[in-house]
Order: sequence, then C-alpha cells, then structure tokens
Amino acid sequence: MGTTSFAQRLKNVMDDRGIKQVDLIRAAEACGKKLGKSQLSQYLSGKTIPRSDVVHTLAQLLGVSENWLIQGELPSSIPISHEAQDLKTPKRSASTDLSFQYTPPQNPRSTLMRQFKKSSKLDNVLYDVRGPVVDEAARMEAEGVRVLKLNIGNPAPFGFRTPDEVVQDMRQQLTECEGYSDSRGLFSARKAIMQYAQLNRIPNVGLDQIYTGNGVSELINLCMQAIVETGDEILIPSPDYPLWTACVTLAGGTPVHYICDEEAEWNPDIDDIRKRITPRTKAIVIINPNNPTGAVYAREILEEIVSIARSHQLMILSDEIYDRLIMDGYTHIPIASLAPDLFCITFSGLSKSHMIAGFRIGWMILSGNIRAAQDLIEGIHMLSNMRLCSNVPAQSVVQTALGGHQSVNSYLVPGGRIFDQRELVYEALNQIPGISAVKPKAAFYIFPKIDTKKFNITNDEQFALDLLHEKHVLLVPGKGFNWHKPDHFRVVYLPRRRVLTECMEDLADFLSTYRQN
Ligand code: PLP
Repeated sequence: MGTTSFAQRLKNVMDDRGIKQVDLIRAAEACGKKLGKSQLSQYLSGKTIPRSDVVHTLAQLLGVSENWLIQGELPSSIPISHEAQDLKTPKRSASTDLSFQYTPPQNPRSTLMRQFKKSSKLDNVLYDVRGPVVDEAARMEAEGVRVLKLNIGNPAPFGFRTPDEVVQDMRQQLTECEGYSDSRGLFSARKAIMQYAQLNRIPNVGLDQIYTGNGVSELINLCMQAIVETGDEILIPSPDYPLWTACVTLAGGTPVHYICDEEAEWNPDIDDIRKRITPRTKAIVIINPNNPTGAVYAREILEEIVSIARSHQLMILSDEIYDRLIMDGYTHIPIASLAPDLFCITFSGLSKSHMIAGFRIGWMILSGNIRAAQDLIEGIHMLSNMRLCSNVPAQSVVQTALGGHQSVNSYLVPGGRIFDQRELVYEALNQIPGISAVKPKAAFYIFPKIDTKKFNITNDEQFALDLLHEKHVLLVPGKGFNWHKPDHFRVVYLPRRRVLTECMEDLADFLSTYRQN
C-alpha cells in the first residue's frame, strides 16, 4: 500500500501530467460526468474522499489504476486511457515526488481499449446494503482502520454458530452430493419443506411446487425474471429488503412502494396499498417478519392484504425468511395459509434460522391457486432448469435443519443472545436525544428514526458516511431500504452486548455534536 494519501496521489499525478483543475473538470464534462470545482478542491485538499463512481471517473481521465488512486496499490502496469491522452500529453518532471514509478508504455496507442460499460439494464438498480458507504468502509479497512460492520445480517462473524448436527450431517453426505440434483432440489429437502408447509397450513403444496435455491436471493431474482413484463407494477413495502426493488427493476418492471407505518408498529398501511393499485399492478410483495423493521404482521393485517389481492387479482409474494426468529410470544402466520384461492409464493431458507448464510440454501413454495399460474410456472421451471440446480451439499441438510430441536429458539428468549441484544439496543437508542425506535418483534434489525431537524440532516447517506469516518461504525441509511425520507437508518444487532454498548455510546457521542452542513 502507498504511504501517501489519496489527495497527495491525485495532486502528484495531476502535477506530473501538467493537468490543471479546470482541465479535469472540462474533461469530465465532455464525458458527461459532473465534477464540481469545489468538489475537486475538497479532494485535493484531503477534506473528502470521492465516492467510488467519482474515483472511477478520475482514474479514467487521468489514465491511472483506480486501486492505485484510492488505495495506493500498485498495479503491474498502469495503462494510459484514451481520455488521459486527450486531456494532456503526459509531461514528466524529474523533480515530481510520485509515490509510484509511472512508466509510459512504449506505444501508448497499443494499449487503447474501448471502455466496457455496465449494461443499461442496471441503470436504476440500487443495492446499497453493499453500496457506496460500504465501499468507503472497505477502503478504510484497507488502510488498516477497524470498522464495526452493522450493515448486513450475517450471523457467523458475530459468533453465531451453525448447530453441530447440521455440520455433521453435511459432512456425512458430502460424497453423495457431487452431482447436480433435480433442478428443483433433492427429494429429501423438498419433502421436508413440503411437510413444513403442511404444518404451516399452506394449502395445495406437493413436491413439484417446491424449488430450492442458492439462498432466497437467487429465487427472488428468478421469480422476478419469470413474472415481470416490461412496465408491470409490483407493490413492494417501504422500507423494504432492497433486493426486491432491485430485482423488479432489473426485470423491467416498476416497483411501486407502499408505506409501512412506524406509528402503527411498522404495519403495512392498507389505505396506502389500495391507493397505489393500477391496472398494471400484478403482484404484492410482503416481508413478514420484516427486515429492516422487525415487525410481525397480525392476522387482521394479513387478511386485509389478501382481500385486496383477491379483489384486484394480484399474486402474493411473501418473504418469510425470518419466520423462525420471533420473540415475545408473537406468532408468525404465513399469508399463503389465508389465501387458498389465490396464487402465492412463499420464500424462506436456512441462512438466518440456522446461521448458515454462507452455505446458500433457501426455497420457495408455490401454493393456492396453482391452476391460475400454469403458464408462469412453466417459465419458473425453465429458469430453474437453466441454473441446473442449487448447491446440493446445502440441500442435504434441509431435512435435519427443519426437523427436531430448533436451537435458534434459545437465542430468542430472555437470556438468549438475540433477545438480550435487542433489549440493549432498543433501550440505548431510545435514550439518545433525537432518536426513537419501535421495538422489533423478530429477526435482528432495528430501524430507528432520527430527528432530522435537530441534526439538520438532509442526506442520510452523508450521515452514515460521517458516522463511519468519525466512529468507524458502518450502518445502512434508510435510503438503502427505499425509504423516502432521510430520517432513518438500520442497525443490525448481531454483535455481543459489550460491542453493542460501545457502539451505542459512540453513536450518542457522535450525535451530541453532529449537525449536517
Ligand atoms: N430476504 C430478506 C428479507 C433478507 O433479509 C435476506 C437477507 O438478509 C434475504 C431475503 C436473503 O437471504 P438468503 O441468504 O437466503 O439469500
């Protein structure tokens, strides 16, 4: 890693090539990129470090490697890009103090390459749970800063261990899992999921209605590709788990967000759902139990959603991956159990309940009015065949995981880690002046509200970046969950109490003086 800072490297390379600020701004403009004068001055003075897309632009314009520019990592060769050539002919001055030895290629033109751009299909796709604030955290970590990462619900790094029996059973069966399975999944896995569906009163489910996937994530994407025609509208909660919105957009559809109401314990606002239905609405997505709010929907709410779906002929897509992580005696009701006459798809998996997010195993259950979806199911089946099958060793433990003792339960009661960590975080957040939070009933997320007036917050991503820079704590701002105002953020309360206590103290300390410019 280089010893000089980003600002120094930027300045050095500009000096070295005789490029003035105005040249760079004009060149950016010519490529359709916005680069303001004060923005560039701030980078050069070391006051701020640009977002990854700006680093990309700067690196392209200057003809240096992005990694070198941001982290000082020295690539094996540093190609000059077309833009850099056009900007200024590189001038070498013997006295320039560069932290790397830049060697102009013998024949720079021979290294000219067309620029490969990402597909325009991705233009409006957002997935900030691993977005720009996370990129900045990664950059800081590369510089040796320790960052507490509360951005993603990944239990293993926080000491949540997979039940021994699950690991032993996978080990035992590994040699039998070398080939592809049926594209939907192993018989044993689908049988166990089918029985799980029966116990949950999800109607009309046979083995053929069950598909395993490399996590629920793969199946959300697969379904959206199968379901969505260009311009179809899909109702999605706000806040959401952002993969839903991203996959609808990627599939060419229009995500239409309905509000979940903080004042009503984050339940979906039924009137708002009604208002957003148009002739193009095809499906409604619910996330129950909810990420990021921890809400668990009561029967009456679910019945109202079913009634809306019934009167507007919508299919119901229900993400229930946290159905086995419920606290305080609440019961989870699968919405599909209330809608035998509608076509429903229920998604779940073992990433969270069995702390095996890395094994990649999830499933979806098609239920209810299967006849109404025959053609769609053919499409789903084709896409399932196209990916051959999901990870077979992970499928081999579904039966073990779903049957017998559920060790996760001990985390969810007083004295259990998830329960106690929730209590701590909930109390601590509500004691910070300017922060309030609804108590989550399930999962391991809390979605607190910030008093934006008090802190003059207009940009929640900036708030997350400022907290990251000052306290080295990584949170995802509400924007990352398609929340419409800059007044929320999500905390993952997976770390142990000691770490959470420190983190809450840091947050309180940070907010005691924070005012956004
Ligand atoms: N759905 C929700 C609501 C989630 O929170 C997550 C992961 O955090 C997923 C789906 C993805 O889970 P998987 O690991 O099964 O892909």
